[in-house]
Amino acid sequence: MKYVKPESLEAAATLLAAEAGTSRILAGGTDVLVQLRSELVEPDLIVDIKHLDGLRDIVEENGGFRIGAGVSGAQMGEHAALCAAWPGVVEGAELIGSTQIQGRCTMVGNLCNGSPAADSVPGMVAAGAVARVHGPDGERDVPVKEIPAGPGKTNLGKGEFITSIFLPARPANASDAYLRFIPRTEMDIAVASAGVNLELAEDGTVSAARVAVGAVAPTVRLVPDAGAALVGSKLDDAAIAAMVSAVEAACSPIDDKRGTVEYRTTTAGVLAKRAAHIAYDRAGGAK
Ligand SMILES: Cc1cc2nc3c(=O)[nH]c(=O)nc-3n(C[C@H](O)[C@H](O)[C@H](O)COP(=O)(O)OP(=O)(O)OC[C@H]3O[C@@H](n4cnc5c(N)ncnc54)[C@H](O)[C@@H]3O)c2cc1C
Repeated sequence: MKYVKPESLEAAATLLAAEAGTSRILAGGTDVLVQLRSELVEPDLIVDIKHLDGLRDIVEENGGFRIGAGVSGAQMGEHAALCAAWPGVVEGAELIGSTQIQGRCTMVGNLCNGSPAADSVPGMVAAGAVARVHGPDGERDVPVKEIPAGPGKTNLGKGEFITSIFLPARPANASDAYLRFIPRTEMDIAVASAGVNLELAEDGTVSAARVAVGAVAPTVRLVPDAGAALVGSKLDDAAIAAMVSAVEAACSPIDDKRGTVEYRTTTAGVLAKRAAHIAYDRAGGAK
């Protein structure tokens, strides 16, 4: 196994593209190193990218935020402006692991590890976040929702890796929320999860909504019908019921000892409903 710390993004892409065997990026290492130790994977090449220019930075850009691929959950939680603008995205990232894990783990590692239950992903998908992908052919921007391909798989091409996540600018009356259900109080994998991102008109009516659910399908799912059910409402019972129905219809979870299909499906609807109310209050809708 080769460990390489390249001096540029271009060098990293060249190394990854040239590797005939298995390769992994080393970000926080909280998935990769565990998988190595448990012999789930034995990469031929490990490319460490955290030290590269800009990858540990959170930068305000066009009214939004660009978050480097090496930024940890803890770093996000300490960024006041980011927490104020995108509390749901930050709470998803901050739910990952423990204090120790928080100091290392990244949202991009969470995304590219490919777990359907990854805690930071529903919030990013609900936010309409965009990943900047670097590869042998240069740079391209890809919506975060298009990165996961299935459990443990991404749609990134040979030699490609993510350098940052962009969270767009948002109007004043807007906010988001993320909730997960775990049978313990912490350090567990979501049985179901939901991220909701709302924009409100002056009178508190929802003018735009995105709802994403996790751990209930092979990848995190954006549910456009669930968002549409909330638009034009002030989260009255009928709108919430329609949103919950749309969420449940979008669920196709596995059935295992942590939750049956019925349990996960119902829980996803409950979480989406609660997250919608939290996002609505945060956006100033209850005032
Ligand atoms: C004790 C413990 C508790 C945990 N709790 C949770 C939890 O509550 N919720 C949760 O969702 N996860 C949890 N995890 C899993 C893990 O911490 C997260 O998935 C974390 O966000 C991974 O980020 P990382 O930076 O450590 O990724 P790494 O381990 O460095 O990488 C993970 C994967 O992503 C790929 N990758 C990394 N960076 C890039 C990039 N820039 N471009 C392309 N591919 C890349 C790597 O090749 C690798 O396949 C836990 C893990 C541990 C050990």
